[in-house]
Amino acid sequence: MRHSDVVIVGGGIIGSSIAYHLALRAVAVVVVDIGEPAAPPSASWASAGGVRQQARDPREWPLTLEASRRWPALERELGATFDFRQGGHLHVVERDDDVPALEARVARERLAGLDVRLVDAAEIRTLAPGITPEARLGAYSQSDGQANPPKATRAFAAAAMARGVRYCTGARPVRLRRTGHVVRTVVVNGEPFGGRWVVLAAGAWSAGIAGAVGIELPVAPRAPQMLLTDPGPPALAPTISGTGRRLSLKQLPTGEFLVGGGWPSVIDGLGTPTMSCRVLPQNVEGSWRVASTVFPPLTARRIVRSWCGLEGEAIDGVPLIGPAVGVEGLYLATGFSGHGFQLSPAVGRAVADALVGEEDDALAPLQPSRLADLDAARLRAFRAETKNRALGTLG
Ligand SMILES: Cc1cc2nc3c(=O)[nH]c(=O)nc-3n(C[C@H](O)[C@H](O)[C@H](O)COP(=O)(O)OP(=O)(O)OC[C@H]3O[C@@H](n4cnc5c(N)ncnc54)[C@H](O)[C@@H]3O)c2cc1C
Repeated sequence: MRHSDVVIVGGGIIGSSIAYHLALRAVAVVVVDIGEPAAPPSASWASAGGVRQQARDPREWPLTLEASRRWPALERELGATFDFRQGGHLHVVERDDDVPALEARVARERLAGLDVRLVDAAEIRTLAPGITPEARLGAYSQSDGQANPPKATRAFAAAAMARGVRYCTGARPVRLRRTGHVVRTVVVNGEPFGGRWVVLAAGAWSAGIAGAVGIELPVAPRAPQMLLTDPGPPALAPTISGTGRRLSLKQLPTGEFLVGGGWPSVIDGLGTPTMSCRVLPQNVEGSWRVASTVFPPLTARRIVRSWCGLEGEAIDGVPLIGPAVGVEGLYLATGFSGHGFQLSPAVGRAVADALVGEEDDALAPLQPSRLADLDAARLRAFRAETKNRALGTLG
């Protein structure tokens, strides 16, 4: 058996950030991945790359604040470029009825220390010229922005490898070995890799991997799709979202517009190791319609590419980070529910600290134990909803 201190299953941005931060603490790590870091259809390959602190579940606030402080210096820290750009994030409301909720949210977030403020219609138009005249109030977080997810993921992996982390990629099959209530071994192509901890960071595949040894995780795959346009002249600095709008919109430094917002694709082989996704044409149309309604200058562009990627969605919409309940040796870092890219630098730091025994409060609200007494009916409903979503049904 090969031994390391920690064996990480999954080399996406979460597994690779954890590996990098463990290496900084001189912990011996091996990362096992059936593919490569940031290969399709993983979330870290498909991601929209939004680096946004506003509009998050309060349980994520400590990590999001820490991540937001780390991002501006991360390219320098990792010695790589991944197109980080701090153009701000602007969330707009178009209906008077939605104004009170936005005002209340921004007040809560400001109290928690997030860099966000309300902007009126005139300032919205200065920040995002050409945006729909219906936008009447906005929440603007100036220090938010965007980065390139595959490049950032590979930067974490390269920085981890440079500090001695071993990557075992293209490894198939990968399975956990469970002995009673203990999981400290991962079997890769029949060869056992042992560690004090096994970290399960396999995104959308995590529940299938755990389920194969009888550990049920309340995490399920989902597969949002993205659109990319041809490049245009610089027209939009902030990333854009809107209340009641299934939308995330940004212009990349290279001029293309990237459109997302959680429009589902179709998942084939749901829950299996070879699960994949297919773009759904009617959701491309829906996504484009919403984006060009909110930001009409988009109609001058054309869609040149669309894709989808698989993400792990937790039953309550925030990640599971901490020891698996009732299983010794297994540590979960999964179920990032569409938020993992921004959080990744802070998740890596916090998990590395926890694994060397220096737990801090940031992970307390995200512990898997919060879901230990989950109602069976709720779990059944979640599984049914997952199957529907896998058909591309809008939830
Ligand atoms: C379309 C889309 C848009 C998004 N937009 C944003 C955004 O704007 N901002 C934001 O913060 N977040 C966003 N997210 C979420 C974010 O990208 C993810 O939360 C994050 O990338 C998750 O990283 P991960 O490492 O957990 O998972 P992944 O990147 O999916 O990595 C999991 C890894 O596990 C490997 N694996 C699978 N099975 C096995 C196995 N049996 N053994 C070993 N390895 C295995 C895979 O090959 C893969 O490399 C988006 C996600 C998607 C899909």
